[in-house]
Amino acid sequence: MGLIVQKFGGSSVADVEGVFRVAQRVVETYKEGNSVIVVVSAQGDTTDELIAKAAQINENPSKREMDVLLSTGEQISMSLLAMAIEKLGFPVVSLTGWQVGIRTDSHHAVARIRKINTERLKKELDSRRIVIVAGFQGINKYDDITTLGRGGSDTTAVSIAAAMHADVCQIFTDVDGVYTADPRIVKDARKLNDISYDEMLELASLGANVLHNRSVELALKYNVKLEVRSSFNKEEGTSVKEVSQVEKMLVRGVTRDNNTARISVVNIEDTPGKAFKIFSLLAKEDINVDVILQSIGRENTKDISFTVDKSNLEAAIKILNDNLEYIGASDVKYDKNISKVSVVGAGMTSNPGVAALMFEALYDAGVNIQMISTSEIKISVLIDEKDAERAVQIIHSKFNLA
Ligand code: ASP
Ligand code: MG
Repeated sequence: MGLIVQKFGGSSVADVEGVFRVAQRVVETYKEGNSVIVVVSAQGDTTDELIAKAAQINENPSKREMDVLLSTGEQISMSLLAMAIEKLGFPVVSLTGWQVGIRTDSHHAVARIRKINTERLKKELDSRRIVIVAGFQGINKYDDITTLGRGGSDTTAVSIAAAMHADVCQIFTDVDGVYTADPRIVKDARKLNDISYDEMLELASLGANVLHNRSVELALKYNVKLEVRSSFNKEEGTSVKEVSQVEKMLVRGVTRDNNTARISVVNIEDTPGKAFKIFSLLAKEDINVDVILQSIGRENTKDISFTVDKSNLEAAIKILNDNLEYIGASDVKYDKNISKVSVVGAGMTSNPGVAALMFEALYDAGVNIQMISTSEIKISVLIDEKDAERAVQIIHSKFNLA
């Protein structure tokens, strides 16, 4: 018996059947004597549909109004789930982000949670209610609605688990857990029983679409016990924990991220301060930059290439083109048809052979590498998008992950 936070994704509550399946699951946990807080995402493709709806009205709406709109998707799910639980005969209450008191900064569409008021949650749990909370949203210091970025409901769940000192945060989704590779691409991909926070953080950031990366960051920071499991069956799933308890493996998983675009600023004058100018312009627009490569050009010039999320490509190109003179460069080029393929594993820190093995696999497959980036526990390569699936398969087998 304890306090359990359960998060259910959009595909788990997509239809009437799903809503009742989730309600049953929640009620079972409650009947065991636990206090239960449930975080839900918008049903199915609701968020995408809302984005499309907005585009019909205004192709460039303010981020503030977008957040007002997108936050409604979660409000629908939370009330429907509460109604299903009522129907099953259990005490329940649903709360939006602002009703709970989820305080965020003011970066609309990518807000970060600053503080969670636990008073209301505690009061409801004390009266033995099941509490349903709308994921992905909060309010800023002006009491305006904010959202946490696509996939942000995971982050809501982990934040609440941290603030409430929950015993565990269970993330229910449409897969059984975290795999060595996307099972849709690699037939013999294997489910991992456990994984370290660091490895999970890398996997989440590198395109294994299981957890929102910030949720993992928070789980690590506040030591929240995390479990990823299926909402369709009772399998154990994957638990995310401290590294010391995790089975040691050289490489844990291979990921592919098609959501990346490459930008090159070319013919930059070779003097100090150029990188600073480029990346501070992008930072001002809240554009995250990933792999960065500076190369020597001709006649005292250099090129700087980097990757951004595809959704930020247009904005990034615009801000750079508008400031070409200020930066002191001749041109901005880009490529949308690239993919980032990565291997992740805490075991590679002490094993110099990993990079060589990965590059050998790509060589075997005749795949050309455009950019490389490494950290202690991951190696990423940028390659042509059309080669990505094959690259994942061949790397997966090269490392014997099956
Ligand atoms: N509904 C939001 C989205 O689709 C948040 C989430 O699913 O976690 O991105
Ligand atoms: Mg969703």
